[in-house]
Amino acid sequence: MAKYRRKFLKPTRFNPKGHMYVGVVWPVEGSTGKKYDVELTDEGFECNCYGFGFHGYCKHSKAVMKKVEQTTFDNFVRILWAKESKEEERSLQHLGLGKRL
Ligand SMILES: [Zn+2]
Repeated sequence: MAKYRRKFLKPTRFNPKGHMYVGVVWPVEGSTGKKYDVELTDEGFECNCYGFGFHGYCKHSKAVMKKVEQTTFDNFVRILWAKESKEEERSLQHLGLGKRL
């Protein structure tokens, strides 16, 4: 067993396992202007800042979690759609079809 275990910030209002938001990355700008990425995984939110690696939570991941838990259904669909259409675009490019018809 590895000594270091990844920690996650568990949402309180939904179960992240298999959630439609899994894989979505929220860019967050820190107070010093540094940019961080908060991602939802099957285990919960994860941030790539130093504090998160140490504590398993941070103000960035907490802010994103709060936002996500307050998200309306409309926003939910919009983010999901953006994610899907991006992937679709990528696969079309891979097939050499370029833009969607
Ligand atoms: Zn963070």
